[in-house]
Amino acid sequence: MNGLPEKKIQWAISLGCIMYDSFVRFVRELYQTNEDIQLHIPVFTNEDKTTVCDAIDSTFVSSVSAYVGKFEQKLCDFTRSSYVVSVVNGTAALHLAMYLSGVSKKTEVITQSLSFVATGNAILYTGATPVFVDISPDTLGMSPIALSTFLEEHGELRENGTYNRLTGRRISACVPMHTFGHPCEIDKIIDICKRWAIVVIEDAAEALGSFYYDRHCGCFGKLGVLSFNGNKTITTGGGGAMLMDSSITAERSRHLSTTAKVPHAWEFVHDRLGFNYRLPGLNAALGYSQMNSLDGLLKEKRKIAMAYREWANDNGFNFVAEPKNAKSNFWLNTLLMEGKQQRDAFLEATNQRGIMTRPPWNPLHTLPCFTKCLRTELTITDDIVGRAVNIPSSPRMAYQ
Ligand SMILES: *Cc1c(COP(=O)(O)O)cnc(C)c1O
Repeated sequence: MNGLPEKKIQWAISLGCIMYDSFVRFVRELYQTNEDIQLHIPVFTNEDKTTVCDAIDSTFVSSVSAYVGKFEQKLCDFTRSSYVVSVVNGTAALHLAMYLSGVSKKTEVITQSLSFVATGNAILYTGATPVFVDISPDTLGMSPIALSTFLEEHGELRENGTYNRLTGRRISACVPMHTFGHPCEIDKIIDICKRWAIVVIEDAAEALGSFYYDRHCGCFGKLGVLSFNGNKTITTGGGGAMLMDSSITAERSRHLSTTAKVPHAWEFVHDRLGFNYRLPGLNAALGYSQMNSLDGLLKEKRKIAMAYREWANDNGFNFVAEPKNAKSNFWLNTLLMEGKQQRDAFLEATNQRGIMTRPPWNPLHTLPCFTKCLRTELTITDDIVGRAVNIPSSPRMAYQ
């Protein structure tokens, strides 16, 4: 090798470092702190503390607490979902949503590979097998084109549903995910699935406060799922919820998540196999109070996103923008680098300087539990996974 290309590489690397320094300086200025800056930390108010104490004082800390219903009502009001059933975490919500929708052994569930492992795990809990289709570069969520191409090629609509001609198995559900809080093209996905008689369950775990055409994410499919894990937009420590329109489904959700116990003054009658999935009152109390902060948190998260967008535009970086017709909650802001090399150098430089940045999850089709699962070409998924980086997105109140 002659000296020239090497020099060029050196030059590119030092230019990269200057850019990364400018990012680090920008984030420090944005958050006004010399502490390490995390990806997403929660904000707690004094009201949160007094509300949790109130739940303790009441002695009703389990799911019989009045706070469970009060938290669910607040979620109903905010999302405009007809019914909300809260459960112990988002994974349990996904599992129960699928269980309720008839997802079972020897069936298949279409989903995206770019997701947190919970989406895939919940499918496996039911005994079904995931099928991975590609994402759209505009939303980072399931691509309606990839979905319909897969169904056109391999789907066969029969009397009791659509079957995969390759495997002979029934396709029992489709689970798109609203990635990093950006709404996917859920209206198109719903249309396609309607044509093929496939139930849609939305993994809206990251999308509390995200809307598509003025409708809250999770309110399009038969069921939608939220998460209140510690790193999500609001938190109950751990927690999740199912959104739905049907009163019958709501009743079944409540029953099945409460060990299928038939209400009775003293008898323990459990009329079928149930789950102990109900959200405890302690967690619900925190959620009830956190809901009062939600509007403020969303405004603040939007401000941070807009600041990043401007910085990225001025500095030649590619910021993942709010999709068309959508209002994102900007749960985790994302930059798209030129390639893996630049991305890894960025991760190295920023983490070394106390600014937490992270690549997306390893896509599900590369994890041991899922490598044997059927998948279509995942060109966009692989490309995005190699180039994307999540950047600090906490509301600034978290550092005050
Ligand atoms: C957070 C999350 C979940 C649920 O996670 P829990 O920790 O079980 O609440 C599910 N799917 C996605 C995509 C998530 O980000």
